Amino acid sequence: MATTIQRAGSAGNAAQTKPAQRLFIPGPTDVLPDVMAAQTAPMIGHRSDEFEALFAKVEEQLKALFFTKSRVYIVAASGSALHEASMRNCVSGRVLNFVNGAFSQRWHDAAKGCGKQTIRVDVAWNTAVKPETVSQALAQELADGPVDAITVVHNETSTGVVSPVGDIAAAVRSISPETLVLVDAVSSFAGTEIPVDAWGIDLCLTSSQKALALPPGLAFCAASDRVLARAEQVTGRGWYFDFLNLEKSLKKNTTPSTPAITLMRALSVQLDHIFAEGLAERFARHAHLAQLTQQWALDHGFELAAEEGYRSPTVTNVTNNLAINVGALNRHLEEADMEISNGYGIYKDKAFRLAHMGEVTEADMQRLFAAMDEFLAA
Ligand SMILES: *Cc1c(COP(=O)(O)O)cnc(C)c1O
Repeated sequence: MATTIQRAGSAGNAAQTKPAQRLFIPGPTDVLPDVMAAQTAPMIGHRSDEFEALFAKVEEQLKALFFTKSRVYIVAASGSALHEASMRNCVSGRVLNFVNGAFSQRWHDAAKGCGKQTIRVDVAWNTAVKPETVSQALAQELADGPVDAITVVHNETSTGVVSPVGDIAAAVRSISPETLVLVDAVSSFAGTEIPVDAWGIDLCLTSSQKALALPPGLAFCAASDRVLARAEQVTGRGWYFDFLNLEKSLKKNTTPSTPAITLMRALSVQLDHIFAEGLAERFARHAHLAQLTQQWALDHGFELAAEEGYRSPTVTNVTNNLAINVGALNRHLEEADMEISNGYGIYKDKAFRLAHMGEVTEADMQRLFAAMDEFLAA
């Protein structure tokens, strides 16, 4: 089964056939055929005019997608690398890590691994980090001296919860203007609007293989001037992810070390698709698919794990209150070449996750729902 998507203006490509979605897991997501194909072009040197032109093009598009005028670093790594990079560049004193799921916990672990002085603030899983919680914790810590940065995950993929990072950034700014606001938007970026500059986010990091719908292997972060000014004051930044090093190269439309040229070609084609669809349309599509998925779950007697008002536009965490066999469900879906995710960590078999990120259409979701209905009726 294949649907045809018509996308005007996408790098001169004629309409391509979008194969039916296979992966309803929160990354990697399915990649469009012409995006995959872009990786097979003959290799070029990275100190060439052709590469610099490619870099300059994707850099401008990424800035538009992050809604920032500052800069976006592009690194050959997965997103977790930027958890580490953010700690090494932005923190010399203390960092406050808000933990409400597995990925915010990972960022905290990266901070500890970098030898930083961490303050961990636990927030119940399945609930959002609220601005009041952040203000309170920050105010308490400020009594003992400055706090260099706070970390918060925008879209906790392990629970399907979105935290209001714009309100959090405003709360931080109002009580401690020098504290940097660092945001992980790995599984929400390109699926929902994250206006980095308008919200006052200092660093916003993401990976290629989630709502951006690219193969894994690239990571991106928007970084404010404040982040660069901080990096100048911090020692032990390392080399590969040293923002000052990346900045020097960025000004010449290149990277300090050999970039992932094939992936950057794929990125270029995919960014053209994203802008051809239209950002507002893309974000509305994700919101609509989230709505349909939540409704499917409720209509079948399931509960939604995430607290109301903070449910993810890209991944729905369904509580397995009907005690279905999630492994058996996935084996059934496999027969139709589809896959969903079990609950993460402690939620294994107690919940399952339906991802609706990337290039997923309503028809794709209906096909998944029909197959799940079949399983539930059997
Ligand atoms: C997937 C994910 C990560 C880890 O990203 P990698 O690219 O696998 O390193 C971090 N944070 C969140 C919220 C994620 O969903």
